[in-house]
Amino acid sequence: MKLKDVKHVFWDLDHTLWDFDLNSSDTLHELFIRYNLENELKTQVDEFISAYKRINDSCWDKYRNGLMTKDELRLARFSLTFSHFDAKGYDRAEEFGWMYMEECPKKSKLIPGTVEVLNYLKGKYTQHIITNGFLEVQGIKQVASGLKSYFDVVVCSEEVGEKKPHPSVFKYALEKAGANESESVMIGDNLEVDALGAQNAGLTGIWFNPKQKSIPHSVVEIIELEELFHIL
Ligand SMILES: [Mg+2]
Repeated sequence: MKLKDVKHVFWDLDHTLWDFDLNSSDTLHELFIRYNLENELKTQVDEFISAYKRINDSCWDKYRNGLMTKDELRLARFSLTFSHFDAKGYDRAEEFGWMYMEECPKKSKLIPGTVEVLNYLKGKYTQHIITNGFLEVQGIKQVASGLKSYFDVVVCSEEVGEKKPHPSVFKYALEKAGANESESVMIGDNLEVDALGAQNAGLTGIWFNPKQKSIPHSVVEIIELEELFHIL
């Protein structure tokens, strides 16, 4: 069933359009080889990447909850991963972290259906981005992956001073886009941060749930982006 009276579509970027997991893994893989970590840390690339992802997720939880600053997060996720494998403390974690931040945003892999759906919605709706990602890298990702021209307003929560799901982030984006809550939808992969956060701010929340997590909720749910052909 189509949603009625929608004029503005707000998108999350990471894990919703820009394939964060693939782009991150590709970057970590390349740097693992460049820094010869198989010898330095005595580990294999798959183990290194899965340890990094686990540690990075827990650092992001702390950042979202205000328990870690952006600068602490950026370095801690690497120093903790390196020390997980090498208690002696391999001292290039910081350099590795800077290289990762420089190179990862230049990757261009997208979630399946991204371009088709953005093209379908283009012209029918005005499209925007609301992201909790860092200001200086989100623009690079959109250019590298060819997405930049699809969006009117791009809001990084950093510029608001609060992060999604805080209502002020959605309100700020609505105002910047000249949009009303009632004519706006927000699509994102995080139920709480994107879909429920948007719903709470008065927009229609759409949860993109490709991993098919079973969590009870009251928002519109899609498993593939292409389902939006039938909803919007
Ligand atoms: Mg996301």
